[in-house]
Amino acid sequence: ILEVTDLEVAFGGTPVLHRVGFSMRRGERVAIVGQSGSGKSTAIGAILRLLPGSGRITHGSIVLGAGRTRGDVVDLATASEPLMRSIRGQRVGLVPQDPMSNLNPAMKIGPQVADAIVASRRDLGKPDRADVRKRAIALLSEAGIPDAGRRYGQYPHEFSGGMRQRVLIAIALAGEPELLIADEPTSALDVTVQRQILNHLQSLVDARGTSLLFITHDLGLAADRTDRIIVMSEGHIVEVGTPREILLDPREEYTKQLVAAAP
Ligand code: ATP
Ligand code: MG
Repeated sequence: ILEVTDLEVAFGGTPVLHRVGFSMRRGERVAIVGQSGSGKSTAIGAILRLLPGSGRITHGSIVLGAGRTRGDVVDLATASEPLMRSIRGQRVGLVPQDPMSNLNPAMKIGPQVADAIVASRRDLGKPDRADVRKRAIALLSEAGIPDAGRRYGQYPHEFSGGMRQRVLIAIALAGEPELLIADEPTSALDVTVQRQILNHLQSLVDARGTSLLFITHDLGLAADRTDRIIVMSEGHIVEVGTPREILLDPREEYTKQLVAAAP
């Protein structure tokens, strides 16, 4: 479903990703694990074409739809901005790291989910408002928000951190994307809530057959929930393997250190 080849990204002429290449099959759950600054967010910033500041893709390709999928095959490294706008939220969903800065504090929760649904159906003509509302409530409830009909009209500050993160999951799934990217989606939450939400996220993507690209610095969290782990360091892919291979038989020195440091 995704084929990244020789990807290089630079910030103002300084390269930070070096010939990064990996691929994902449909329905596969892949983790990118690495220490802070290793280039994880930069890699997904490139995939979504949301690189901050002077960040530019200087080389390589990011083919979405590689293999058999719905929709067209497109190179995200070179796609036009209007095309990228329709791909984000429709074919590729993002669960961002920080729920507070990614929800509009002045807007009720339900309408924010409804807007995401409407945006993902832009090409299908005028949506039926009651239908969109029903769908938004269903999504919130699927994401694990109890009493979603009542909470539809509440503001983000009335939600706990974990519940806000669940809202962001509902928003990311609004367009029924084929690929869901989660960038350290729960690192701001306490461990119990983190695990609950990640388990829930996993069941949602499994039920849909959605491919999941899960970014984390926590090897243990990645190993429990993914089919394959990509280890990154200093902008390079160091090693790729199944959780068993990475945890029990790491080949590279860097991975061995990561495994030794994991709780
Ligand atoms: P973390 O776990 O802390 O989120 P990360 O693996 O996501 O780390 P990135 O944010 O991708 O790491 O950063 C990779 C490298 O890119 C770092 O060396 C960082 O200094 C550089 N970098 C990231 N964003 C920018 C920016 N806006 N301008 C310049 N350099 C940047
Ligand atoms: Mg990051």
